[in-house]
Amino acid sequence: MEAIQKPNAAFHIELTGELSDPAFAGKPKYEHVNHCMVGRSVVSSREKAEKRLDRKQRAYEIESLMKNKRSEDYQVIEEVFDRSTLMIIYDLMNKRIIEEIHGVVSAGKEARIYWGKDLQGKELAIKIYLTSSAEFKKGMIPYIEGDPRFSHVRRETRPLIYAWAQKEYKNLRRAKEAKVNVPEPLIVQKNVLIMEFIGKDGERAPLLKEIALEDPQQIFKLLLTYVRRLYQKGGLVHADLSEYNIMLWKDKPVIFDVAQSVLTGHPMADRFLRRDLENLHKFFKRRNLEMYSVDEMYKRVTGGRN
Ligand code: ATP
Ligand code: MN
Repeated sequence: MEAIQKPNAAFHIELTGELSDPAFAGKPKYEHVNHCMVGRSVVSSREKAEKRLDRKQRAYEIESLMKNKRSEDYQVIEEVFDRSTLMIIYDLMNKRIIEEIHGVVSAGKEARIYWGKDLQGKELAIKIYLTSSAEFKKGMIPYIEGDPRFSHVRRETRPLIYAWAQKEYKNLRRAKEAKVNVPEPLIVQKNVLIMEFIGKDGERAPLLKEIALEDPQQIFKLLLTYVRRLYQKGGLVHADLSEYNIMLWKDKPVIFDVAQSVLTGHPMADRFLRRDLENLHKFFKRRNLEMYSVDEMYKRVTGGRN
């Protein structure tokens, strides 16, 4: 897995002919996309000719897809995003990774999140980073610098934003593997990240700051466990943790928005971790809990027994 998720090589799926492969007909393709790309480096001239045909076929399919599926939601997408982003969306639809895209869940300065569905009707959150945000680029640099996973990334806006989306995908993966409750990441292609939708029927789960907690003590305990697992097993510090980046779903906190999360070896990791813990401390202190001090929380996360 890890080796083929490098920026650029990664989930950049060329307009080759996977679609016409009968083995994949009608199936959702997260699992298959990897196979499609590996082993295609040696290409015979016959295969090349086939590829050319497939490309024509693909262009036709995309065109008809745009016509058939045109709706208000698609029109919004077409107005907001550049050609490269649109091609990724159409490509993902053509591969049937995305079957439907509906309304906007959230429209921030840096990214928009759409609600969608896959072929089986499973709800998806489709996060699309805006490639035009110059401010965003400035903000990213401290989090990318000092991360050896991204040392080779060029400093222009576009490659940085692609790396940023890759970073969010990888961080979600690591968190998931460390048994932290996060949305499951499904696929990333350039500035488009698809993950599990947290919520139901297009209605996102509430943020921690939006609701009255029935059992704040329990939520606090779980969060501290997640931060500890993220640190100890995942080797990551969230670096923007607060009641704004935690949802509550099925009585459990779900941590999200991890693009800025850094490896524990990052020069700023310690400072970021303390800030995260201070945010949690402040939030739960207002709920009149018996609280650990920030120092105690820090000890629990980084070392001491839990
Ligand atoms: P902001 O600038 O508001 O922090 P952002 O660009 O950093 O936004 P996120 O924080 O990842 O993006 O997501 C924005 C909002 O979209 C969240 O507050 C949340 O309500 C919703 N959201 C994000 N991920 C999901 C998901 N997987 N399922 C459902 N809703 C989600
Ligand atoms: Mn956020």
